[in-house]
Amino acid sequence: NSVVLVTGGSGLVGKAIKYVVENGSGCKNEKWVFASSKDGDLTDRASTEAMFLKYKPTHVIHLAAKVGGLFGNLSANLEFLRKNLEINDNVLFMAHKTGVQHVVSCLSTCIFPDKTSYPINETMVHNGPPHDSNYGYSYAKRMIDILNRGYNREHGRNYTSIIPTNVFGPDDNFNVQEGHVLPGLIHKIYKAKEEGYDLKSNTSKPFTVWGTGKPRRQFIYSRDLARLIIWVLREYKETEPIILSVGEEDEVSIKEAAEQVAIAMEFKNGFIFDTEKSDGQYKKTADNAKLRKYLPDFKFTPFPIALKETCDWFVENYETARK
Ligand code: NDP
Repeated sequence: NSVVLVTGGSGLVGKAIKYVVENGSGCKNEKWVFASSKDGDLTDRASTEAMFLKYKPTHVIHLAAKVGGLFGNLSANLEFLRKNLEINDNVLFMAHKTGVQHVVSCLSTCIFPDKTSYPINETMVHNGPPHDSNYGYSYAKRMIDILNRGYNREHGRNYTSIIPTNVFGPDDNFNVQEGHVLPGLIHKIYKAKEEGYDLKSNTSKPFTVWGTGKPRRQFIYSRDLARLIIWVLREYKETEPIILSVGEEDEVSIKEAAEQVAIAMEFKNGFIFDTEKSDGQYKKTADNAKLRKYLPDFKFTPFPIALKETCDWFVENYETARK
């Protein structure tokens, strides 16, 4: 029998794992524990130890992190660096100390070198400095891979990491200032519909997309990512990270993403670009060949369907959603 501790279990990805475990992906001999910061502050060593002693996990999916969008990162790089370094060192050390054999931690495609060739793959994580806008988060995340290699080489532990592209789905942080691009757009359209409604013309004001709309991103639906993470936990034996992403052909521009959100939200008034706002990294196209080698037949939810489910969830849960 195994006990799977999910740190960050109350976040976007953690809630998606809970959803898929409760809807067919769970196993009889697995007990799942979804921990939030209320169960213990993972920046604190003693609190982390108490969590491990309480739940006695045999497996850990480590998602807990200080996470933010471009604008959240820009304003607090040092804090992103320090908090994430503390959390990751505490979790991996306590996992090792209490005998956990298998840990899956979470990196991100936004931690790759800024100046790189495309598509990026798992071998390129440490090949050069990350984009300056999120250097704190990036260096802290890169250290997870270094820790994993250390625990493997010196203690034979099976600690690995996954590299998701931009995640979205129900239970995301829909805060416009600090959140990621898709939930931010969804919330802005919701507000534009609510506040800017003009009775005479029966229309709403357009909403504003930050930046030029030209940057390109691969988006992954949180529930698809959740199914893949469970596969990694059960089947993937390498220490080296694995990119969990839709293919290169499914990359979309922020403009195209905004158009899709408008369709999903049934908003017809279009949008304007605030080009004074930073674009962040132009692109970070990731290669999912390694994933496809292992799972050639995995089916991702089509972007418009996943977006519609996310928008519907946000509208239905507006009062309680993180925003
Ligand atoms: P969220 O911001 O939605 O959730 C963060 C989680 O971490 C919450 O459960 C939060 O608990 C917990 N947490 C934060 N600080 C602490 C702390 N000091 N002690 C204990 N728990 C803490 O994150 P996501 O679900 O979006 O991200 C999950 C993982 O995926 C992260 O590692 C992130 O870096 C990575 N990732 C995310 C991407 C994305 O687009 N969202 C893209 C690529 C990677 P509480 O709810 O109590 O605050």
